[in-house]
This record gives sequence, C-alpha cells and structure tokens, in this order.
Amino acid sequence: MLNIMKLKTTSLLLLSVFFFTFHGYAQDTVEPSLSTEEIELTSWLDSQEESMLEMLERITNINSGSLNKQGVNELALIFGEELHQLGFSISTLPGEVIEMPSCPGSNYNVDVADHILASKSGSGSKLLMMGHLDTVFPPGSPFQEFSREGDTMYGPGVSDMKGGLVVMLYALKALNESDELGDKSITVLLNSDEEMGSLSSRKYLEEQALVHDWGLVYESSGNNRFTRERKGLGQARFVVHGRASHAGGAHEQGRSAIKELAYKIVQIENITDYETGVTVNVGVISGGEARNTIAPCAEALIDLRYPEAQQGIDAVAQFEEIFGSVFSYPINPGEITTESWSNLHRPAKIATPESDYLLNKTIAIGRLLGQELGVGDSGGGTDGSLTQAVGLPTLDSLGSAGTGAHSNREQGRVSSLVERAKLSAILIRRLAAE
Ligand SMILES: [Zn+2]
Repeated sequence: MLNIMKLKTTSLLLLSVFFFTFHGYAQDTVEPSLSTEEIELTSWLDSQEESMLEMLERITNINSGSLNKQGVNELALIFGEELHQLGFSISTLPGEVIEMPSCPGSNYNVDVADHILASKSGSGSKLLMMGHLDTVFPPGSPFQEFSREGDTMYGPGVSDMKGGLVVMLYALKALNESDELGDKSITVLLNSDEEMGSLSSRKYLEEQALVHDWGLVYESSGNNRFTRERKGLGQARFVVHGRASHAGGAHEQGRSAIKELAYKIVQIENITDYETGVTVNVGVISGGEARNTIAPCAEALIDLRYPEAQQGIDAVAQFEEIFGSVFSYPINPGEITTESWSNLHRPAKIATPESDYLLNKTIAIGRLLGQELGVGDSGGGTDGSLTQAVGLPTLDSLGSAGTGAHSNREQGRVSSLVERAKLSAILIRRLAAE
C-alpha cells in the first residue's frame, strides 16, 4: 500500500514537473502583496469605469477601418493628445503606400495612415506598450455603433482593440494620478495597419523592440486568458493574366485566367497539412468580365499559418512554384502569366524563459487582484510576435476581455476595463522597478 502511494506520489510529482516544463509557466509564481500605494492606484481606477466607458463609446463610434485614413488619423489625434497631457513627447511615424499586383480596373494597393510614437524617458526598465488604432470594419460595414447591456458592450473594436487602448491609457493615467509616471521610461507605439499585417509599421515595431526591456501589447484578453505562443502568419496575392475572347465565336482563341486560377487554387489549398500545423486559405477571389467573355484576368488572396519559421519559408517557395507553372493550357503556356506578391508578415511567437517570466508575473499579480487568468496558445498573430522575434520579451493580451472579434458579434465585458487597467498599472509599476 505504502509503495503504491509512494509510486502515485512520485508519478504525480513527475507529471506536474512535466506539465510545468512542457507548458513553461508555473501556476505557483508568487508576487509580493499589494502595497498601500498600489491599493490607492486600484481604488482610483475603481472610480473610472464611467469615464473609461465614455471614452470607449466615443472612439468605437469613430470608424477606423484600416483603409479609412481619416478615421484612423482622428483616433491618433485623440490618443496623441491624451498621452501628451500625461507628459509624453509625441511623434509621427510615416505610413506608406504598399503596392500590390491587381487586375486592370481593380486596385489593391494599401495606403497606410501614419502611426504614432509617444515616449518619455525615466529610470528603471524600459517598457514598450503597443496597440493598434485600426479595425477590420470599413466605413461601409453595417456594424458601426457602440452599445451596452449590463456588463456586456458591443461594437466594432470594443475588444479588438479599442477596449485595450482605453485599458492602456487608464493604467498610465492611474500612475500619473499618484505621481508615479514621471520617473518611468515608457514608449507607446500605436500603429494604424495591424489588421493588414503591420506591413508598414513592422520596421518601427522592430526598431523599438531592440531598445526596450519589456513589451506589452493590449490585444484582448479573450475569456480572461493570456496567449503564450502563436503561429506564424503569411499572406500572398496573385494575379493571373490570360487572353479575352468571345465565349461563342472564338472560344479556342481565349486563355481563361479563371480556369488557370482554379487550378492554382486547388494546388495552393493542398499545401494545408493539419499534422504539421501548416494551413493555407484562399480567402478572396475575383476576376472575369462577362458571362460570355473568356476571362482575361483573375486574382486571389491567400492566408498562411505555420508553427515554425522554416515551414513559412517552404510554403512561400511552394507558392512561387505554383505561380510560375501553368496547369490549364499545356499548349503555348506562355500565353498565361502570373504576377504575385507574398510576405511572411508575422513570425511564430515562441515562448522564452523571459516571456514566461513576464506571463507568470502578470498572472500572479492578477491573483493578488482577485483575477483568475488562464493561459493558452493561438493560431492568430499580433504585433507581439514581431517584437518577441527580435528579442523583446512580450505579453500580448493585456487588453479588456471579449469575444467575437472580426465579426458583428464582437463584444466585451464592461467590468474587465477597470480590472485590466488595475492589472497593467501594477505590472508597469513593478516591471519598471526591476
Ligand atoms: Zn487586434
């Protein structure tokens, strides 16, 4: 009996060691209890829920779809002004036009609005706080307005991630209220193109990551859960050019771009391999001119997810091979041409001892505040994947709680605004002191 008990205890012990090693985070990290100053910080935030909600309603009702430059700029102005009042120096990081191949008459060039950088110098660890101003909802989307029912709020961006922007701002305001912001070294980078893959802001994020000690990203904390690791992301566009012809009178003279596109799509979709975790999705297609015209042009947009860097590189090489081949017309294949663009825009986010330290610390602070926070992995990427890949330990789900992102079911938990602002204020305070 004793031996069996011993065996059981040993295997339990081994199992838990394996669990913690495998998952890399220890549930038993303990943080010192809250100081008087920290309790004051949290009670000030308790009085701010209405003010946070008002701000969130205001900024949710400003459409800031990634390509709506005017709306994104309006948001940048609001946050620039707020951060300026907190003692930050504000500068603009120029956006740019990113050219994409497209069929004649359609234009997929991406015109990215400027990003903003707010910085203040101080002593202690250097913190980089990040958030995105843009949402996936264009001005024409029917989902435009903020609303609230009890502890639930609805609206485009309430959790992805305008709620997070408010959390970030109020954590800083709380520190400012108690005269604790002045001596801290903090940079806030708010980009305008995260939902398109940070194609323009990537260089700024990486540049800043290299000169800071800790990275904090205010994407939603979902169902009260932090994300530890993420897949890498890639995207590609390709445009097939064929030859137009009358579908009745001169069918044989046509070279259908749609037919070739269809062959290519099947090849591309077949790259998906659930065993290795690589997935490919041809998410958008368009092309052709009329039912009775053989299509002279057709195009498609591809999404790619991969657990490891090399898999992303290999998948793009496979894309290139498919783009460069012609499947539909074995005779005179040169009459079909393909233009393409591809980009591995988010490296996989792989946990490191430093990022696990940050994660554990935050969970332990959450526990002091009565917040039970879980941990999981995700197939979606964030700007935290970019900063962590260049060596900045980054936690990327510090924003308000919510679900349904990128759909008209997007919602957030109202009480999480104050909860997460408290968590951040104390986290910033303790990290800065390290
Ligand atoms: Zn987001």
